[in-house]
Amino acid sequence: MSALAPNYKRKNLSFVKGKGSYLITSNGKKYLDFVQGIAVNSFGHANKKLINAINKQSKKLWHVSNAFKIPEGERLAKRLVEKTFADSVIFQNSGAEATEVAIKVARRYFFSIGKKYKNRIICIKNSFHGRTIAAIHASGSKKMTEGFGPKVPGFDHFEFGDHKKLKKLIKKNTAAIMIETIMGEGGIKVIPNWCIKAIRKICNQRGILLILDEVQCGIGRSGKFFAFEYSKVKPDIVPIAKGIGGGFPIGAVLMTNKVAKAMTPGTHGSTFGGNPLAMAVGNAVLDQINRNLLINVNKMSKYFIHELNEIKIKYPKVIKEVRGVGLLIGLQLFKDQTEFIKKLMENKLLTIRAAENVIRILPPLNVKKSEIDIALKIISKVCNEIK
Ligand SMILES: *Cc1c(COP(=O)(O)O)cnc(C)c1O
Repeated sequence: MSALAPNYKRKNLSFVKGKGSYLITSNGKKYLDFVQGIAVNSFGHANKKLINAINKQSKKLWHVSNAFKIPEGERLAKRLVEKTFADSVIFQNSGAEATEVAIKVARRYFFSIGKKYKNRIICIKNSFHGRTIAAIHASGSKKMTEGFGPKVPGFDHFEFGDHKKLKKLIKKNTAAIMIETIMGEGGIKVIPNWCIKAIRKICNQRGILLILDEVQCGIGRSGKFFAFEYSKVKPDIVPIAKGIGGGFPIGAVLMTNKVAKAMTPGTHGSTFGGNPLAMAVGNAVLDQINRNLLINVNKMSKYFIHELNEIKIKYPKVIKEVRGVGLLIGLQLFKDQTEFIKKLMENKLLTIRAAENVIRILPPLNVKKSEIDIALKIISKVCNEIK
């Protein structure tokens, strides 16, 4: 029996090393890794520039404390601000922490302008914002909250697409609407641009804040730096994590100056958040999220999604829908996806499940066409076996 708690249903498979799109077992078996730590390893495994950055920084300084200035963090924040809608950044260590800080910022903003009664956050039912006590209640999922009561108050929920209900939920005490721009765990459900625009408009009309959770879809994965750029809206607060660390645990909240002003000294803190080692890696990730990389994401995405749709046409009883933007791709099956994912794994292709019978396909952002071709061949083969 494992000394690890049983809270994960782990596959009986482990790896000793990785290189680019591949993972290698102790007996030398190679797997095409289209999970990449769940949209975390932006440039695949063992990226040279990230290795160099962490090696270099590890010999100088790992950790101080946020009681002191951290130049690597100042630099990463400045670069994120120059690249995006944001004026200000708080660093954390994970996605759930980032979404929690987003909630704190929204509430603190209204507190700071004398409206502390505005503290409720509206979220989509069965969304995903992380696994901390507040984040599971923000997600409004029965499965995630069961047994973890009492319920954390302050969250209201509407079903995906039910704008009528959303409008009804907005009351005097509403502080913000928080949604994932693309619902990752929820089955790669892309919120349409018109919908995000409409929500922004509602926020403006009602004087509330818009929080867009880009923990999974941000940092180039959608083909733009942020997925919300497709809709041309400007959010107030954006939690990020996964892709910005490239495999190193980093979370952050990006925000406008309007709300950031409320986060005065002492309102928030984190021991590890934004330490020099993490910040050195974050900067080396950002170095590589450039125009050419985004061009590759879009090109590979177009090809991959087109070819997956060809497979869907060939196996119309197996594949229900091909979903996604950029390299955040979902293959929705008609039935439970467990067997399909297992067969892909037997054929040395790693993928991961999401809700609604969806198989999530998350290649590194620098994936090659030849690697996608291998994946397509395996997916086609499994469709033929399972039909
Ligand atoms: C993964 C994820 C989180 C939580 O991130 P952790 O690092 O696991 O805490 C939050 N929001 C979204 C949209 C995610 O995909």
